[in-house]
Amino acid sequence: MESQTKILIIYTGGTIGMVKDAKTGVLKPFQFENLMKMIPSLAMLNYQIDSHCFDPLIDSSNMDPVYWAGLVDIIEKKYEGYDGFVVLHGSDTMSYTASALSFMLQNLNKPVIFTGSQLPLGMVRSDGRENLVTAIEIAAATEDETPLVPEVCIYFENQLFRGNRTHKFNAENFEAFRSPNYPVLADAGVYIKYNRNAIHKPNFKKLKANKKLDTNIAILKLFPGISEKVVSSILHIPDLKAVIMESYGAGNAPDSDWFVNLIADAIEKGIIVLNLSQCQGGSVMMGKYETSIKLLDIGVVGAYDMTTEAAVAKLMYLLGNSSDKREIEKKLQKPIAGELTITN
Ligand code: ASP
Repeated sequence: MESQTKILIIYTGGTIGMVKDAKTGVLKPFQFENLMKMIPSLAMLNYQIDSHCFDPLIDSSNMDPVYWAGLVDIIEKKYEGYDGFVVLHGSDTMSYTASALSFMLQNLNKPVIFTGSQLPLGMVRSDGRENLVTAIEIAAATEDETPLVPEVCIYFENQLFRGNRTHKFNAENFEAFRSPNYPVLADAGVYIKYNRNAIHKPNFKKLKANKKLDTNIAILKLFPGISEKVVSSILHIPDLKAVIMESYGAGNAPDSDWFVNLIADAIEKGIIVLNLSQCQGGSVMMGKYETSIKLLDIGVVGAYDMTTEAAVAKLMYLLGNSSDKREIEKKLQKPIAGELTITN
């Protein structure tokens, strides 16, 4: 007899499990047992579904690298005992957490599917029921006894995405996430149609959980009129090791002397400057326009088509595991978990 599929749901918090406080009308989390009661149809899946709840449950605005390490720890400890994992997480920072886990869970050969909802399960029109049920189905899906999606994903409103390619782009629509630079991994309609060519293949190596992260990074978002004192104060943050410079278009930035000199001084001091475009779609191509040639010359590193969310997580992960600037810069420009596409 085939053994029963085992899925672990890790409930971190977020809208999916919230109820309205009768007195204040404010949304607050409720306990997981209630969440299971809301979806009696889960029993029809005939899987063994266990749960692990964060205590306290958190709104994902409070997510941070300590919680990421906690999540990795739970998955590492439970890895052998389960066929797949579903992480219930607030949508606000879901892309950051999914990105972080894609780097921290090396040699992942089982599905880790993040989901949540825009409306609490307790509400009649909640999107949470479908999101949760399908996420569980995807986490359990196999072919030739091998998981179909052995990677960290986000499932939301009928679409499965590679987690480190996503971005939350809508605060109201049920369709809250986009993956502007990588195809959807599966579409869930009457059938769940997997885009097999886009999904990681399992490597059958042993899972290596890496919980070392370094948060000494900053984001410098450019805008017309940004002043020298703003740029300078960011680049002079004590202990700063890396800056994500959110530039324009294909990686362009002002070519005024004060700006270029500040960036060059920071790089000389040992700070990594990662050039990432404010455009959601497309890739950084330094050198395409005159306004980015100088950046290339002074040692700015291009992020290709990475999302800000993936870049934040990747930098924390790389800085946590090495102090060799060159090595980190090299790794930033190569995919570790399918987070970027090399275009040139
Ligand atoms: N504020 C909530 C959170 O991110 C929103 C959600 O769950 O989607 O935790």
